Amino acid sequence: MDLIAVSQIGKMQRARIEKDIGIKLYTDYAYLHRSGSRVGDTSPERMSQLFGCRPEDYSYHFVIQVSDCLLSCGNCGCKENPKKFTAEKLVDMFMQFRNAALTLGVTVNVFCLGGASAFCCPFWKVLRQELDSRGMEGVMLLAGTFFVERETASILPWEQLDIHHFMLTGCLKGLDREDFLSQTGKDLFSVAASELKHYVQASNFYLSLRYSDTFACAGLDSLIAKERVDFLITDRGTFCHAGRFF
Ligand code: SF4
Repeated sequence: MDLIAVSQIGKMQRARIEKDIGIKLYTDYAYLHRSGSRVGDTSPERMSQLFGCRPEDYSYHFVIQVSDCLLSCGNCGCKENPKKFTAEKLVDMFMQFRNAALTLGVTVNVFCLGGASAFCCPFWKVLRQELDSRGMEGVMLLAGTFFVERETASILPWEQLDIHHFMLTGCLKGLDREDFLSQTGKDLFSVAASELKHYVQASNFYLSLRYSDTFACAGLDSLIAKERVDFLITDRGTFCHAGRFF
């Protein structure tokens, strides 16, 4: 895979980016994100667990939104004016962002493939190689799966996880059949639960769920150990990471 489709950054997102991180650093197809500035990202703590680094070293993420997702979520921001990029061009963009951020006193150590990144999973290794060839072996690659790639596109992302400095987060788009259908427009909850099984043993994978109180109710406790799950909002209204509240 030589090219991936990347979505343009929408107007709403641009406004949010500035508000979130207090600095204006984005282009039409990439933006800087500060993890922890919004609900929904515990990846620095996960990286810290895996690599023994400090979470704050992985706070700032260079983000592109991979397009071409086959789900149909009503609030999707990853399908606007997609444009195809090579790994070489994306790494050029990453380096430009990194240099610009450095002048603001910010170090960027994470290249995040947002949106439908598991649909282009063969590209993960291509991108890793491009980063490595430019001396950025320590830059973390972060991607995500929605657990429907095999069913909808005959793609097996779990076979592509053997990459250094790589982490995959899983997002279950709904906690039962009706919830999944209403969020994504597709009746694929049982497919997602089935594909999740392929990831649960991988050391560089974790599942991100919005509410902790629905974990057992949805039957997920029989599929994945609680330590492999981050609950972004608990029933007490707090964040929880791997069983630890913060
Ligand atoms: S899962 Fe939904 S929100 Fe995410 S990229 Fe696909 S359609 Fe968009």
